[in-house]
Amino acid sequence: MEIACLDLEGVLIPEIWIAFAEKTGIESLKATTRDIPDYDVLMKQRLSILDEHGLGLPEIQAVIAELSPLDGAAEFVDWLRERFQVVILSDTFYEFAQPLMRQLGFPTLFCHRLEVAENGRVVNYRLRQQDPKRASIKAFHSLNYRCIAAGDSYNDTTMLSEADAGILFNAPDNVITEFPQFPAVRGYDKLREEFLKASHRHLA
Ligand SMILES: [Mg+2]
Repeated sequence: MEIACLDLEGVLIPEIWIAFAEKTGIESLKATTRDIPDYDVLMKQRLSILDEHGLGLPEIQAVIAELSPLDGAAEFVDWLRERFQVVILSDTFYEFAQPLMRQLGFPTLFCHRLEVAENGRVVNYRLRQQDPKRASIKAFHSLNYRCIAAGDSYNDTTMLSEADAGILFNAPDNVITEFPQFPAVRGYDKLREEFLKASHRHLA
């Protein structure tokens, strides 16, 4: 049995914080782990910016609902689900991803969670576990599933290494150069081909 494990942001949907910053015009929300390497510091900053702008979860979800999955993403997920069990392994939060997952037909998503007060204010965030993408692949192996994984960035590389086959999708050049052991493809047609190549079954 085979599971297809996909990263979410950059693979099926835009980077949520960047897209959200563009939609709202809040420049300071464009900071990423490249600007602030400590994820906890970065997240606390993001939550306080949301507070400053009076944005609670309902307002945030309304903005995110106006975003769309990447062109061709929904069709790709449909194609994949006919051939594999599909699980999305992401470092996003259920509450943020929800409006976009609706547009993808709610595939299985393993990610993190936000703590939200009754008035909608986002008060904190809860990471599910350390190195969750790698841990998920290990868990699937313990259930006797073979895993083929695809992702676009550094936070995917432990998942790609742990999987039986790892694929870089639309990754930046520095990631491709640093991880030459993974095939790197662009566009969903090429990604379909890589999944077929990596599969041990006779798929078409
Ligand atoms: Mg990504």
